[in-house]
Amino acid sequence: MNAERLLELDALHVWHPCTQMKDHEELPPVPIERGEGVYLVDCSGKRYIDGISSWWVNLLGHNHPRLNRVLARQAGRIAHHIFANFTHEPAVRLSAGLAAVTPGRLSRVFFTDNGSSAVEAALKMSFQYWQQSGLPEKTRFLSVTGAYHGETLGALSVGGCDLYRRIYQPILLKGYQASGPDCYRCDEGMRRADCNAECFRHLESIVEKHHCAIAAVILEPMVQCAAGMRIYSPVYLRKLRSLCDRYQIHYIADEIAVAFGRTGKMFANEHAGVAPDILCLSKGITGGYMPLAVVVTGEEIYRAFYDDYVTLKAFLHSHSYSGNPLAAALAVEVLEIFREEEIIPRLGPRISRLASYRERFESLPCVGEYRHLGMIGAIELVARRETKEGLAWEERAGYRVFRRALERGALLRPLGNVIYFLPPLTISTAQLDDLADIAFESIRDVLG
Ligand SMILES: *Cc1c(COP(=O)(O)O)cnc(C)c1O
Repeated sequence: MNAERLLELDALHVWHPCTQMKDHEELPPVPIERGEGVYLVDCSGKRYIDGISSWWVNLLGHNHPRLNRVLARQAGRIAHHIFANFTHEPAVRLSAGLAAVTPGRLSRVFFTDNGSSAVEAALKMSFQYWQQSGLPEKTRFLSVTGAYHGETLGALSVGGCDLYRRIYQPILLKGYQASGPDCYRCDEGMRRADCNAECFRHLESIVEKHHCAIAAVILEPMVQCAAGMRIYSPVYLRKLRSLCDRYQIHYIADEIAVAFGRTGKMFANEHAGVAPDILCLSKGITGGYMPLAVVVTGEEIYRAFYDDYVTLKAFLHSHSYSGNPLAAALAVEVLEIFREEEIIPRLGPRISRLASYRERFESLPCVGEYRHLGMIGAIELVARRETKEGLAWEERAGYRVFRRALERGALLRPLGNVIYFLPPLTISTAQLDDLADIAFESIRDVLG
């Protein structure tokens, strides 16, 4: 099909995610033909550096030879089969592999098929645990402003991004929401590099008052990605861990975006040296090849569901594609690649390169802050640097920068007025420089 016909049919029949479809009148979607390492290649042969890992999923580059091979091999055996009463080697190897690399004593892996569904399963698991463990009044969840946990109703209920959530408020679960960490506009007048997570007191005071009703706190460790790559202090996580222990509350870590090296460590919780009670993983887990998500927990939670059938304590949650063998085989290979190719130990030069862009971006008067952690870098565009006053959202400065960057050959889909880098971990330092150059010039084009 030629590109023209493709776009014609797209305009007639497709409804794209997270998109005001009317925008396509001015900027039609880019028809992609193939991928090549960190590049997306469109039908006309134009190449785009995938600066955001195609929504944070691509981990090791597109069209990866080892992942391609594993996918084909598994497809030649079986693509999918029921995962109740049946099992298979990729799922078993993946579960054992995750038990070995995840923090703390996480040892049980429950399979779902996307990030939101993992969050749903984690919330239900926590709730049911307390129902079956003598504290049935623990029925609520505590989350923070700026949080993002997905788009299904349960996940949206614990979200804190108004843009995605506001209209659905009447149909969401009731819960508690604490003011979350926002280091760029810190209320306490501290700096993230040397603060003591003073802002944790907001969450703490809600827990002190309502702990009897709280089943779990759900949090994105180290970086609230959807809120605009808000990076915060690991002290926050250490305080959370000890608060949860004190009041019998589960810590659900949503590492859907930040796991697998994005923050420079395998798991973001490692920055704080803590382990959650329940861990949600997805996105990069298959290298960005297939939808897969897992909820990982420990024996203590698992045991509260383990009993004779007639006690009706089982966790009856399921998805048709639970434990999909193609996805699981890819995830096993991703873990192997991390080990054999020493992906994390070898991030060093790329991380320092990302860190080195700070001065350059902060030289622009429209940049309030350039922040970075591991393989994530983010540029917050503002109207006035001195007051940190934001740009009017209606002007869509971030979107305009994105359009200029597309012309120049980079995918930098923004989060409001935050332009960010979250590239495949395998990107070279020269490719990072290209990406930074494109971002810099595009910002200058739009904001002078
Ligand atoms: C993307 C994301 C989700 C939702 O995952 P989906 O697969 O898009 O449903 C949940 N939590 C975080 C932190 C995410 O980044």
